Formats: sequence, C-alpha cells, structure tokens
Amino acid sequence: DVADIGVTGMAVMGSNLARNLARNGYKVALHNRSVGKTETVIAEHGSDGDFYPSESMEDFVASLQKPRVAIIMVKAGKPTDAVIDELSSLMDEGDIIVDAGNALFTDTRRREAALREKGQHFVGAGVSGGEEGALNGPSIMPGGTKASYERLGPMFETISAKAEDGAPCCVHVGSDGAGHFVKMVHNGIEYADMQVISEAYDMMSKALGMDASAIGDVFDEWNKGDLESFLIEITATVLHHKDATSGEPFVDVVLDQAAQKGTGAWTVKTALDLGVPVTGIAEATFARSISGGTPQREAARGVLPGEEQKLEIADPAQFIDDLQKALYAAKLVSYSQGFDEIAAGAEEFDWDIDLGDMAKIWREGCIIRARFLDRITEAYTRNPKLSLLLSDEYFTTEIAKCIPAWRRVVAFAAASGYPVPVFASTLSYYDSVRAERLPAALVQAQRDYFGAHTYQRVDAEGTFHVEWSEDRRETKQD
Ligand code: NDP
Repeated sequence: DVADIGVTGMAVMGSNLARNLARNGYKVALHNRSVGKTETVIAEHGSDGDFYPSESMEDFVASLQKPRVAIIMVKAGKPTDAVIDELSSLMDEGDIIVDAGNALFTDTRRREAALREKGQHFVGAGVSGGEEGALNGPSIMPGGTKASYERLGPMFETISAKAEDGAPCCVHVGSDGAGHFVKMVHNGIEYADMQVISEAYDMMSKALGMDASAIGDVFDEWNKGDLESFLIEITATVLHHKDATSGEPFVDVVLDQAAQKGTGAWTVKTALDLGVPVTGIAEATFARSISGGTPQREAARGVLPGEEQKLEIADPAQFIDDLQKALYAAKLVSYSQGFDEIAAGAEEFDWDIDLGDMAKIWREGCIIRARFLDRITEAYTRNPKLSLLLSDEYFTTEIAKCIPAWRRVVAFAAASGYPVPVFASTLSYYDSVRAERLPAALVQAQRDYFGAHTYQRVDAEGTFHVEWSEDRRETKQD
C-alpha cells in the first residue's frame, strides 16, 4: 500500500495519464485487464517514474495508499460498469473511484449514487486533450464530492495543463455528473468550432478557387489574431500537408465523411431535454450525419437542382476578411449557446458551477483551447449571473464589428448554393434572440386554433382562447 494513485486501463489514454502522474513524482499503481499492456508500459516507459504494476485487481487495490484513489480509463459503457463493480467490491468506505473516460453524465450520476450508498466516492472526470494532452497536461473537469476533490485536486491540478498565467486547467466542477456534463458540452462546442472552420475553408476553396496550401496560409494568419486557437492552428497544418502517396494536398484525398463517437449528439439531445437552443452545435452534429454516406446524400447526388447564381467576388481580400469576421461571430454564438447549456444543466441538476472557471480551465490542454476564452471568464467575472454571454459588453462590441461581414457571407453562400449550416444557423439564432417580435405569435395562434392551447395578449394580463369552431369569440381562461 504505497502508491499515491492507481490507473486501470493501459490503452493510450490510461497509460499516458499514468506516465504524466509518474513524471510529476507520484507513485502510480498500474493495472490492465490483459497483462500484456501493463508490461509494455513498464518496458517502454518504466523510467518515467515510480510504477507499481499489478496483474490482478486485488493486488492493484492492495498497492494503493488509503484513502485509495483509482482512476478507470477503459472503454466507455458496459466495460466501465464492470470495472467499477470489481473495484468497488475491493475498496473500502472513503475510497475514491475516478472514471476519466468519456461517460454520459446520466451514467455518472447513476454510478455516483450507487457508490455513495456504499460510502465510497465516485468522481466522473472529463479529460480533454487527446493522447498528447493526457501525457503532457490535459484540461481536467472533475465532478463528485468536495471531499474527494480535496484528495484528488492537488494531483489533478499538478498534472493538468497550465494557462499562460500559471493557473492549472483543472477545477472542481460540481457534484456527481457535473464534470462529465461540462466535458460533454466542451465536445459539442468543439463540433461547432470544427464545422464552422471547415465552412470557411469550403468557401475559400469553392468561391475563390484557392488551393489547400493557400487556404492554410490564411488560417496561419488568422491564428495571429482573435481567432488564435488550437483548432485554427491544426487546420493550417492539415491544409499545408501533402499526401505522401499522390503528392496532392492531403485534405483533397480524404473522403468527405466525418464520423462521430457521440458526445456531440449527447450535447444536442441533452439541450433538447433542457430546452436550450444550441443551434450551432446541433447543425455541426447534423452536418457530420449528412456527410456520413447517408442514403439521402446518395439519392440527391446529380439529381437535385441548385439554381445557384455565379456571383463574382470583386475583392478576394475583402471576402477573406468577411469570412474571418463571420467565423468569429459564429464562434461567439456557439460558445454562448454552450455556456447556456451548462447554466441550464447546473440549474436542473443542482450543480454549483462557476461558468467563468469553465472558460479558465479550457484555456490550455483541451481541444477548444483559445485566446478568447479569457474574454468569457472576464464576462462572468463582471456579472456571474449573466443570462446570455453574448449580451456582455465585450461581446456586443465584438459582434457589432462582425455583423455586416457575417450577413454578406451567409447571403453569398445562399445565393451561390454553398452549404454553411453553422454560419447560417448561428446568424439566425442571433437575429431571433435579439428580435423585438418573433413569428412565434402566429405559431401560438395556430396552436390555439387546432389544440385550444391558449395564448397570452400583448395588451392584457391573463390566458385566452378563441372559440374557433363556434363564433370565434375570445374567452378568458381561469
Ligand atoms: P479504449 O476506449 O480503446 O479502451 C481500451 C481499454 O479498455 C483497454 O485497456 C481494454 O483492456 C479496456 N477494456 C475494454 N473492455 C474492458 C472490460 N470489459 N473490462 C476491463 N477492461 C476493458 O481506450 P482509450 O485509451 O482510447 O480511451 C479510454 C477512455 O478515454 C474512453 O472512455 C475514451 O472515450 C476516453 N477518451 C479517449 C480519448 C482519446 O483521444 N482516445 C480522449 C478523451 C477521452 P484490454 O487491453 O484488456 O482489452
């Protein structure tokens, strides 16, 4: 019982997390269902630090100092449940089991409740940054009890990425499933970011006829300004990459089908349940679905007419500048929508989530790390109760500078027949949320007609209904 912490699941994420812990001076117990993976870690990386490998789960648990901390990093779903059951049966009251995989937050809530019954702590921790992040410093979003964070927090903060100001990219998010919830929304925002970047690429490629490498140069340029972020940076790198086999730009030889593992869809489903409009994330998720070799896409190919106008772009530099502004505006809307979902989740599940802190711990380590996250933290510092991120004075000023360009981009795309689901849906959201009056009045009137769903009036208190099938007289409801 010497190890500070243990990791079970020695695939790429688990082994890298264990190595990160060891490199930071922690004594790390290791375990994997099949022994081979553990042996490989020791053979290849044993010199990273103090490892305590075990072949059986019993020995693994026995090698941990009390109160024990064991991180599970195995395939999400049933395998995670199986490992939790096994570990929990060997652990004592007060011990901590961490699931650092990508679990659905409702599973985490269920698992946390079950372990709480036994006096054990269950922590669902979101970990972002892929393999590289797990090894060199991820962004970590742990849920669970405050007590468990007292034991875990110092270790997680040590191995997490550090922002420019030195702050660790790890904070206690909230109780039970809060950490996995926030990680889920992080991934949803990531979907929107990736899609809108790809829409900007598509427009440069199709409307301006630029080749991948020239578009890569534009993204390199954008990465020096407000858009500076990991995703813009890797976009430039990918666009500059040449395929070794054909010598063609790499992006041109990749089949245009984007897969998904589910976190985007979870974000959208959860948003629907909570009644939060996350249109940018939803469109980005559906964009992947459309791309994915659907029968609809096959059936439409060469059949559906377009009637697009071949518009001339008089000033390509101006067009690129418009795309940059449109990208920034669409991104602000996607993030604002994502933060709305976190706020709604916190309200629904009674989590005390500091929204500004979430932007802080995404500044480094994770996939959506970006310069402008500081602006989000500042907005929530100015007003922790901000009910619409976009309404913060910094964001209203920034968006004002982008609006004409954003409209030109969406109008041009529509006229030309280029799909821009995130550019367009975020603009529609923006115009909806700021509209003095929405056509919802007519929708509600229709509902009253066929379903007697009633309505409220602009000029009087109360609830009303028109007797549509009789004399169309208005009645006031109790
Ligand atoms: P995988 O998701 O590929 O899972 C492989 C690991 O799970 C192996 O150690 C395997 O053991 C173990 N395993 C599978 N089934 C069982 C079972 N029934 N009982 C016990 N162990 C089992 O590994 P990754 O490292 O890619 O990911 C781990 C977790 O991290 C996942 O939840 C993933 O979603 C999440 N994640 C992954 C990221 C990534 O970039 N890959 C990024 C962020 C999170 P064995 O060797 O015996 O088969």
